[in-house]
Amino acid sequence: MKKFETSEKLEKISAEELAKGVLSGDRGILARVITLIESSSREKRKLGTEVLEKVKAYAGKSIRIAITGAPGVGKSSLIEALGMFLIRAGKKISVLTIDPTSSISGGSILGDKTRMERLAGEKNAFIRPTPTGDSLGGIAARTREVIALCEAAGSDAVIIETVGAGQIEIEARYASDVYILVLQPGGGDELQGIKKGVVEISDLIVVNKADGDLESEAKLTARAYEEALSYLKPTTEGWRVKTLLVSALEEKGIDKLWAEISALISITRANGFFQKRRKEQIAYWVDAAVKDGLIERFFRDSRILKARRELI
Ligand code: GDP
Repeated sequence: MKKFETSEKLEKISAEELAKGVLSGDRGILARVITLIESSSREKRKLGTEVLEKVKAYAGKSIRIAITGAPGVGKSSLIEALGMFLIRAGKKISVLTIDPTSSISGGSILGDKTRMERLAGEKNAFIRPTPTGDSLGGIAARTREVIALCEAAGSDAVIIETVGAGQIEIEARYASDVYILVLQPGGGDELQGIKKGVVEISDLIVVNKADGDLESEAKLTARAYEEALSYLKPTTEGWRVKTLLVSALEEKGIDKLWAEISALISITRANGFFQKRRKEQIAYWVDAAVKDGLIERFFRDSRILKARRELI
């Protein structure tokens, strides 16, 4: 497969060819089509959408996993450990990091950090920071399209990582089949920097860093959350929320984590909730896209712009 240098050159390539590249699992083309989808240029977005139209029949087959938690709890370490585990099991994965800062600073808070180095070197892993851009809804407006593209490129699991920012964490629930909250040993919700409502929508609560000196505290933290959970009604029908102890560093408990993710998927597929949730999610994203579209149009209208200037 050819390598494409810039998006200018890319635009001369037909949607057909790009779609073929995506379906063949070419990560370079996948990345560039995502860039088209996320572009603020209508032309580029149009081409990206055309590609998506051609490949979308192949989307939808992955397990979509949201992973959230405060900075420093070890999300990226855990994603790397889980990702490597899945790759060793012969699977293909994508990791999308939803990063609210990149649209503000033009760069990313994560950019200067070397994250998921081992995973990045794996040909069956695709890692992509997703800027939230101008989306008013919080989560990147294009996230669902990006997920679909990753799936069409053959991902068995798409991991959506959110980097601590209120609304986005809640919205990630609407993009995922499984929602995982990562904690570290110590403190309650406030000390852990957990936003209100996040525990309530979680399917699995993972206490990371259960190793060395931190292990006994990790156990205490897990127990405290387990108790709290017994008072909550799970958001996923047929599923009882569980607390797990893991060490991303020592790759301990990762197999168990995957077993629980798989169990949730099997249970919800069997009781129909998996399908029901995905359907509801489509409705949610259609509404969000309509709202975004309306607001965009509103602010482009010359009469509105004039009235706005006068008001100001
Ligand atoms: P993120 O900000 O949530 O993505 O966290 P990182 O994955 O960057 O990890 C934050 C810090 O915690 C780093 O210094 C890691 O080395 C450390 N860390 C991550 N996982 C573990 C673990 O399982 N055990 C221990 N002891 N430290 C860990």
